Amino acid sequence: MTTVPVVIVGAGPTGITAATLLAQYGIECLVLDRWSSVYPQPRAVHLDDEIFRIVARLGIADEFAAISRPALGLRLLDNTTRVLAEFHRDPAHSVHGFPQANMFDQPDFEALLRANLKHYPCAELRGDAEVTDIADGGEGRILVTFNDRPEGGKHIVEANYVLGCDGANSVVRSCIGTGMRDLKFDQRWLVVDIASTADLDQWDGVHQVCDPIRAATYMRIGDSRYRWEFQLLPGETTDDFGSLDALRPLIGPWVRDVAPTDLTLVRVAEYTFRAKFAERWRRGNVFLLGDAAHLTPPFIGQGMGAGLRDAINLAWKLAGVLDGGLSPAVLDTYEQERKPHTRFMIGMALSMGWAMTAGGDVGNLIRRIVVPRLHLIPGRRGPPGNWEAPCAPTPW
Ligand SMILES: Cc1cc2nc3c(=O)[nH]c(=O)nc-3n(C[C@H](O)[C@H](O)[C@H](O)COP(=O)(O)OP(=O)(O)OC[C@H]3O[C@@H](n4cnc5c(N)ncnc54)[C@H](O)[C@@H]3O)c2cc1C
Repeated sequence: MTTVPVVIVGAGPTGITAATLLAQYGIECLVLDRWSSVYPQPRAVHLDDEIFRIVARLGIADEFAAISRPALGLRLLDNTTRVLAEFHRDPAHSVHGFPQANMFDQPDFEALLRANLKHYPCAELRGDAEVTDIADGGEGRILVTFNDRPEGGKHIVEANYVLGCDGANSVVRSCIGTGMRDLKFDQRWLVVDIASTADLDQWDGVHQVCDPIRAATYMRIGDSRYRWEFQLLPGETTDDFGSLDALRPLIGPWVRDVAPTDLTLVRVAEYTFRAKFAERWRRGNVFLLGDAAHLTPPFIGQGMGAGLRDAINLAWKLAGVLDGGLSPAVLDTYEQERKPHTRFMIGMALSMGWAMTAGGDVGNLIRRIVVPRLHLIPGRRGPPGNWEAPCAPTPW
């Protein structure tokens, strides 16, 4: 049986970031992912200057700058696209040295992360490897069982530590027997990516339409790429919006008189936005990171960033414990530090979500309360944020 100090389950942005950081400390690790390549569906499109600093720490700041686009900030609009409020982000400078809002396409970013990991011989990424079980092997060893896809051969690898970076439906989370606390947010949204070389001639930032009937988000994510997200009405599915013609009533306010022949529909997908976090983020030497530990609606563009924050919080502590320089007690601080910060972020995302979607007097009241608090979103804070410490009180 092979033995490795750290097995990482899941090669999404969280898992690859953790592997790269551990490899930079010279810690051998094996990353197992059920698919052979990057998950191609549209997801994250924004990261802030704090997360860019983590990307720089991975050694790919210039490469990320080449695939991303600094944005001017966030505008809240009403349902006639009238601007209710604008929150400026500096596209050139910040206390972290990077643009405060950066737009990109998650599959491009993940491809970059994976290419970079190849520079570190002590990190191995094995695709087509579906983890099915994590068990206590005694004497501080953990047994990780995985199957080869598609052949189905079964393997067991022995590890000192396991990082569960296996996303929302985490097998690792099930294996350590922790539940998810549900913050009761459940909304179906349509996500639309369109390519066009035509200039839509819009303000170059994130537009959030506050509309209890049909909330929406629009943003430019690349030189020729645009992203829309629309709240789905009861009974609607992606099948109702499978063509540019069907999407026209939704995207019309932004594409205006751009000819349909100048627009290419890249993908349409449905997601259910949820807000949850794991009750416990650790059992023994098994840890949860990223979406395996927390789920946030994407309204403030912080879900993936939270996973990268988890990785950079844990990696140096784990490396220190493995090389004998730090007491294992330091690992307790991972959940202590990251959980309150994550809960605060989810709270901010929920506030934004309600500001965009809640109707009637309650909706108007929420919009009045939320807008003044938007300065708390990363990139808007005065003092530098700190991904290693809780930086804000939890709102509940
Ligand atoms: C529409 C949408 C928009 C979003 N926008 C933003 C945004 O703008 N900014 C932002 O920061 N975040 C955003 N997010 C959130 C972001 O996409 C996720 O938070 C991020 O992908 C989580 O990364 P992860 O590595 O933790 O998990 P994942 O990306 O889910 O990766 C998990 C990996 O584990 C693998 N895996 C799962 N189970 C197993 C198993 N049993 N064995 C082996 N491998 C396994 C999977 O194949 C996958 O590669 C958005 C999400 C959505 C849906």
